[in-house]
Amino acid sequence: MELAKRRGFIWPSFEIYGGVGGFYDFGPLGTILKNKIIQKWREFYVIGEGFFEIDSPSVMPEEVLKASGHVDHFVDAMVECKKCGTAFRTADLAREQTGKDIEGMSKEEMEQFIGKNRVRCPDCGGELGKIFDFNAMFRTTIGPGSKRVAYLRPETAQGIFIDFKRLQRYARGKLPFGVVQIGKGYRNEISPRQGVIRLREFTMAEAEVFFDPEDPHHPKFSNCADEKIRLWRAEDEVEGREKLTEVTAEQAVKKKFVCNELMAYYLVLTKKFLCELGIPENAIRFREQTPGQRAHYSSETWDAEVDTARFGWVEVTGLAYRTDYDLSRHAEFSKEDLTIFRADKKRKVLCHVIEPSYGIDRPLYCMLEHAYTTDGKRKYLRLKKELAPIEVGVFPHLNRDGMPEKALEVHRSLKSKGFMSEYDDAGSIGRRYARADEIGIPYCVTIDHQTLKDGTATIRDRDTAAQVRVALAELPSILRSLICGEVQLGEVGEPVKK
Ligand SMILES: [Zn+2]
Repeated sequence: MELAKRRGFIWPSFEIYGGVGGFYDFGPLGTILKNKIIQKWREFYVIGEGFFEIDSPSVMPEEVLKASGHVDHFVDAMVECKKCGTAFRTADLAREQTGKDIEGMSKEEMEQFIGKNRVRCPDCGGELGKIFDFNAMFRTTIGPGSKRVAYLRPETAQGIFIDFKRLQRYARGKLPFGVVQIGKGYRNEISPRQGVIRLREFTMAEAEVFFDPEDPHHPKFSNCADEKIRLWRAEDEVEGREKLTEVTAEQAVKKKFVCNELMAYYLVLTKKFLCELGIPENAIRFREQTPGQRAHYSSETWDAEVDTARFGWVEVTGLAYRTDYDLSRHAEFSKEDLTIFRADKKRKVLCHVIEPSYGIDRPLYCMLEHAYTTDGKRKYLRLKKELAPIEVGVFPHLNRDGMPEKALEVHRSLKSKGFMSEYDDAGSIGRRYARADEIGIPYCVTIDHQTLKDGTATIRDRDTAAQVRVALAELPSILRSLICGEVQLGEVGEPVKK
């Protein structure tokens, strides 16, 4: 986090006014990284899966969220300190002070638990009062006056469900079909104390996969049937066993560990996506939510979790079987017919939904943590090369003899070819390499005396600090192959002896 703040990835928002918990800014590097994660996500879901992307408002009128159940169910059980008056999320206090998960308990059960386990105010040690509900949506009004109540959307999904009629027409009868939306979501957390992990405003990327419940198959399931996934099943969690079951996607369906083929397919796709971000497979697991933990719309939910040093296992994706809950509720509240007529099957279908819902901010944090590497003297961010915010650093070895001019020329030519290149001539070359390592620049090109003589330059690899010398004319194509991983540094140019 120190590095992330100092080097311009992320930092707390509103800092000069003391900050507000649950809000983070993305700095110059963090913003590029975030956009690259989103781009990678689009490669998976929009290009790979062929899903349609839409973009709808983040302010939603109350009737939408009444229908979706959020006005009634998007609530946190809260508790107030009798002494100092500070309010807390009950389940968080219980987890912090007892290690137990009481999510989903009734208010009475929570009160009993708190009394029995002597959970106290973490600020002053005071006794806690009665438990009450707090709706976690940010409320506002549309236009002047206070009649038209609205909320900032708690999920992007509702924008998709509301558009279902138009979208299914666009899909021209194809089932299953998917629609995605990427954008801000809001949750007015009570007392977020986990930094970038618990945000009040966050970016999410959600996919709603609509399918016929009598036909829950994915056309490409055979491609992933043998892929292994590690499951922490609810029946084990309920019994207090942190036991992982490793199965293939096919076994997960056959043994009925997951509700259907589509769910198994998207568990695998999620694992692949997280691996593409540079998160090691052994730091990824899928935890099934217990009935008490599940959202009101879900009959089965799997959380993809990533192991981190700072926060332990962090939920980064939720995969929910939303059944026909949303469409049937919107049909009921809007009085619109949201069924599809399947001409081939000669029947009407109210689609069911599998929803892979990704946070973008949390995976970004997990990526940074997993990329952070120290080996003796050096510390560097071992980000996936194609995801590094800056792809190439261009340095003059010395600030004289025409080297800066030549380096600038190389830098500009790389930019014109679409590279995210950065020119740096500040301080010693050693310090410039150290900074480049810290922000994860995979390759640094240095212009030295020899460049001026024979038109070659050195490329230095972030992970090994090894260098090779290549002709400037070949630099763009070599860098392109290195960044996308087609070749390794040892396979190009002449090695430079230190
Ligand atoms: Zn207190």
